[in-house]
Amino acid sequence: ESAQIGSRKTTRSILNEYGLHAKKGFGQNFLTDPAILQRIVEAAEVTTADNVIEIGPGIGALTEKLAQAAGQVVAVEIDQDLIPVLEKTLAPYDNVTVINQDILKANLPELIQQRFTDPTKPIKVVANLPYYITSPILMNLLASPVEWSSITVMMQKEVAQRLTAKPGTKQYGALTLAIEYQMDAEVAFNVSRHSFIPAPNVDSAIVVLKQRQQPLTTKPFDKQKLMGFIRGCFAHRRKSLWNNLQTVIGKDENIKAKMTKVLEKIEISPQLRPEKLTLAQFINLLNALHQEKL
Ligand code: SAM
Repeated sequence: ESAQIGSRKTTRSILNEYGLHAKKGFGQNFLTDPAILQRIVEAAEVTTADNVIEIGPGIGALTEKLAQAAGQVVAVEIDQDLIPVLEKTLAPYDNVTVINQDILKANLPELIQQRFTDPTKPIKVVANLPYYITSPILMNLLASPVEWSSITVMMQKEVAQRLTAKPGTKQYGALTLAIEYQMDAEVAFNVSRHSFIPAPNVDSAIVVLKQRQQPLTTKPFDKQKLMGFIRGCFAHRRKSLWNNLQTVIGKDENIKAKMTKVLEKIEISPQLRPEKLTLAQFINLLNALHQEKL
């Protein structure tokens, strides 16, 4: 039996040694298949020229494979009970830094500047995500000013489908648009629930998001503003665009008159639901509102 952290045997003995049980509240499902761990690193195309951020290292199974392939790895883990475990399991790797933090509260540009020896190298995210916060984590990554070289993440199969959904479908939303704006998305492979301890109730998929190759024909005046705007427009997805816009921009008569003018000019019906709008329409809308100083 191999001594790799992510073998079933080693995972069980580490959990036993530290008296740990997977915490549901933190979405802990430990991946216990070294071949799959290796395939994830290969799908991410990690090389020694890369800086890697791992979200939720757990007991270090994927971290170990990343450390062997990457220049440097920074792993962010929320569960403080796992920190002493990681210190021990990852001791052989001097290119790994473990941080005890909630990734949703991390200042990503600052983390990159402070923790990587050479922050100008390509930054790749690789993670077996905690399923309860897959969407917020991805949304935060994509709304941050960081230019990700790639984001390779394991998630529920159903969520993976949402990432490439078409306008007008139930799965289409702010996350779909944030991805379409800057990344090319591809499902690399599926992973059975039986590859985890404990087994989750769903099967999983590895999704690879790579920096967009084809430039957009319509560009927003500000990426950060676009991400916030789209999020705001989907705050109440069953309500009309008009209702959502009033929440995002304002309800006073002067503002409403300007918004009506803008929507007429770019020929978007205020009664549409946000899920009917394409990315280009959201960008046009934001740019037109900006021109009207809204
Ligand atoms: N990487 C390990 C593996 O593949 O076996 C563990 C993956 S497990 C699905 C998710 C990990 O994310 C857990 O270690 C959990 O404690 C951690 N986690 C959960 N919420 C987090 C958060 N907000 N910030 C950072 N890590 C988090």
